[in-house]
Amino acid sequence: MANIVIVGAQWGDEGKGKLVDLLSERADIVVRYQGGNNAGHTLVVGGEKTVLHLIPSGVLHQGKTCVIGNGVVIDPVVLLGEIDQLQERGFLLDSSLMRISDRAHLILPYHKMLDGLREDASAGRIGTTRRGIGPTYEHKVARCGIRMADFIDADVFARLLAENLEAVNQRITALGGKAMELQPILDEYLPCADRLRVYVTDTSKLLHDASAARRRILFEGAQGALLDIDHGTYPFVTSSNAVAGGACTGAGVGPTFIDAVLGISKAYTTRVGSGPFPTELTGAVGDQLHKAGGEFGATTGRPRRCGWLDMVALRHAVRVAGLTSLAITKLDVMAGLEQVKICTGYKVGGEVLDTVPAHLGGLDDVQPVYEVLPGWEGDLTGARSFPELPSEARAYVRRVEQLAGVQAALISVGPGREQTMQLRDPAPSARTQTHPRHQVID
Ligand code: GDP
Repeated sequence: MANIVIVGAQWGDEGKGKLVDLLSERADIVVRYQGGNNAGHTLVVGGEKTVLHLIPSGVLHQGKTCVIGNGVVIDPVVLLGEIDQLQERGFLLDSSLMRISDRAHLILPYHKMLDGLREDASAGRIGTTRRGIGPTYEHKVARCGIRMADFIDADVFARLLAENLEAVNQRITALGGKAMELQPILDEYLPCADRLRVYVTDTSKLLHDASAARRRILFEGAQGALLDIDHGTYPFVTSSNAVAGGACTGAGVGPTFIDAVLGISKAYTTRVGSGPFPTELTGAVGDQLHKAGGEFGATTGRPRRCGWLDMVALRHAVRVAGLTSLAITKLDVMAGLEQVKICTGYKVGGEVLDTVPAHLGGLDDVQPVYEVLPGWEGDLTGARSFPELPSEARAYVRRVEQLAGVQAALISVGPGREQTMQLRDPAPSARTQTHPRHQVID
């Protein structure tokens, strides 16, 4: 397998965790490159459920190296909790199998407090997970964040923390919160730094060295293209670049390092929290998708809003994330519907848009233009090859491919690893043979 980026092609929760887990088998290194513990991947292996928020899903494959890149923001308490949970289950016992970028930024208690206070002040307008992700990225851009390399140096950490607390406490109290004290934070976080030190390194160098040694790298995106800070439905977005380009900046590799981009899309659409959702279904069909799909967030437990597949949004994702193939998940969930609909455009005034408008409120009053296809009956969860699917389900997939302009490489019909069919290789290794980074220069 070539180096591949796996990204969400919708508003997150597309089932990336399952696909990353599946494709990790063929990779040597699995890398997270953006987001924080606002992401949640649910993996079902051998009937056992594991939810990972920070550590790449590849960790469940023995012997793979997991990398948390510089673009990820890390809550050390949460990360250590995850390490403990995995170690109790026999994973990650060898510390050399995980590496954390020395340039990754740290989520601290004041980031979480600011997140909560601001969300309260705006009556939950953006619908953040209140885990401090947004404020940590703000501090990164404001150049007052604290990075892993400095966290693991106790003196530097204490100095930076003291400097930051002064300014941060002014904001906290202005928002009605209680000022934070230095010592309790040091007491809690210095032992975390001691435990994490063993994992911290220059992960960009590690990835380049690994690639030179022809090790295969899989980049695992969090959230989805429509939640990307630049290309998503701003301001109802996450604070990082969830598109494939985020893998470059968030892991310290150039675009030439990446051979393929697999976009994950559900066969329908879901969205958690606030924000525009043109194809949202609030009636019986929405309820059926919600129930059959178990649509509750892995991180927050919040119910997800459900709707028809939105091809305007998906085409946007194909473009901004440079998808080379699609994985369509949860096709099984749509079984039993008499008709299924695909949104092909947005009607606004007398006009039909085929792109996602950028302006504020631009998606609020659009009417989806639907193409109606026959639905399918029966239980799809046992299907293991494309011809085994009902003809209507196959026709649906083919129409989605046509409208997306990208072929489906994988179809998923259940949460298990085995409930997947491969139509084509999502990352054919042929391209790497002639790839410039493998040329020998005399
Ligand atoms: P992620 O954040 O993109 O990894 O998505 P989540 O893990 O939050 O949500 C996907 C959920 O759907 C998980 O509970 C998966 O186990 C489940 N899932 C993934 N693929 C399928 C599928 O094809 N069919 C069904 N029924 N469930 C699936």
